Amino acid sequence: MKAALLDGKKISAEIQGEIKQHVAAFVEKTGKQPCLAAVLIGEDPASAVYVRNKERACERVGLRSELHRLPAETTQEQLMALVDQLNNDPAVSGILVQLPLPGHLDQTPVLDSINPIKDVDCFHPTNVGLVSQGRPQFMPCTPHGVIQILHRNGVEISGKHVVIVGRSEIVGKPLAAMLVQKTSPSCGPTAANATVTVCHSRTQNLAEITRTADILVAAIGVPKFITADMVKPGAAVVDVGINRTDDGLCGDVDFDAVGEVASSITPVPGGVGRLTVTMLLDNTLTAAKLQAGE
Ligand code: NDP
Repeated sequence: MKAALLDGKKISAEIQGEIKQHVAAFVEKTGKQPCLAAVLIGEDPASAVYVRNKERACERVGLRSELHRLPAETTQEQLMALVDQLNNDPAVSGILVQLPLPGHLDQTPVLDSINPIKDVDCFHPTNVGLVSQGRPQFMPCTPHGVIQILHRNGVEISGKHVVIVGRSEIVGKPLAAMLVQKTSPSCGPTAANATVTVCHSRTQNLAEITRTADILVAAIGVPKFITADMVKPGAAVVDVGINRTDDGLCGDVDFDAVGEVASSITPVPGGVGRLTVTMLLDNTLTAAKLQAGE
């Protein structure tokens, strides 16, 4: 493979080391240990794995975590009541409701009911608005992970054409909103100031557009969708996709073939996924600081 590996494990360990120090300093100063409360509804095995990974990551950096497991038949009212209880619990810094919810539950009112100061996933309209205005109190975890993995590997974003395939509320849209800002709050102006194109399933001549990307981000949810002929030689390629196939986990990028064309590429697993969890830890500490008036 010609492309350099953008190693999420390494960058994630580096950032977690920094967070651990900041958590220790916060605990020493305030006597309070920040806490992430995770809410898991139903028996989805992938969601259970994600929540367990988040709990372990909390432990590594010195955050407390608590898990609220509810049965699949939980009603909307019961879930909203739990969120209300967590909103009012001073020991809880951040609240995470693991998605997807079982089909009978309506996600939007649940996420909207999380106190914006505890909204560590950065899904609340207040926080989405603040991100889009370039004055975030939290940064959305996966887009922030994408920016960190590029920045810490020395891939300059400023002035570059970034093409994002995917316009979801979790990845594509917030990432575009962050990349067009004049500066990145965590990584400075070299990690912002991009020229951004967002593509989706109705985009015409997709390959023509992706071939103009200096940095190509795939957040589609289709295994190996981005093929070598869609990538400009020398581009940096970030694969956000996590797809479970018969051959195991794979991304939205044909890793082996694209690795021959790109200058750098993230693997799956071991890429952006690692950073997503890490940026959640960062947001939990931020939440604790906001609540402590820092
Ligand atoms: P969504 O399903 O919400 O969005 C997928 C996007 O891809 C949509 O905008 C859709 O377009 C677009 N798309 C689908 N098919 C095509 C196509 N043929 N051509 C062009 N665009 C297309 O997915 P998410 O954003 O939530 O997730 C994307 C991937 O990233 C998934 O594999 C998911 O598992 C992974 N993921 C990974 C995370 C991590 O931590 N690494 C975190 C979050 C997600 P349209 O809007 O028109 O339907």
